[in-house]
Amino acid sequence: MLACDANYCPDCGSELGSVEVEGRDRAHCSSCDRTWWRQSVPTTSVTVRDDDRVLLIQRASGRGAGRWDLPAGHPEYDEPAREAAARELHEETGLIVAPTALTLVGTVLSEGPRANYRSINYHIDYSATEGEVRAGSDAADARFISVGAVRKGDVDVRKLGRLRLRDGGVID
Ligand SMILES: [Zn+2]
Repeated sequence: MLACDANYCPDCGSELGSVEVEGRDRAHCSSCDRTWWRQSVPTTSVTVRDDDRVLLIQRASGRGAGRWDLPAGHPEYDEPAREAAARELHEETGLIVAPTALTLVGTVLSEGPRANYRSINYHIDYSATEGEVRAGSDAADARFISVGAVRKGDVDVRKLGRLRLRDGGVID
């Protein structure tokens, strides 16, 4: 499997060609006689609602540094999405939730420069969480922001964040 549009075979290093399988062009290595299927990269997010406020984090580094998003992050390769969402929420905001307490709201796809991401999005009410909000990990800030301000565009939310907020019913 490939997460990005690769030029060379990950197994043998030969230049990849292409072959049509099931109606789409797929990367193919003629040396290995192997077709490389391309997949999106899973990521997760959690919408924490406190009445008319939603918990957002400001990204400290990487793409979108300084911009806002829901608490979010990638599962480890062997980690269930629900557990990843709870772990990332704790790392970025300090809040503690049981993975089983998260409600699945849906998934969204986002195209990035290197890979496409498929975000698996959860929801929980603030009253069902424990701990105090404090920014950590790759979050420079973590705070509850009024849904009205987010809807008006007063907060600089990155593209994937907007897709997640729409999926969670926070914005239209
Ligand atoms: Zn090969």
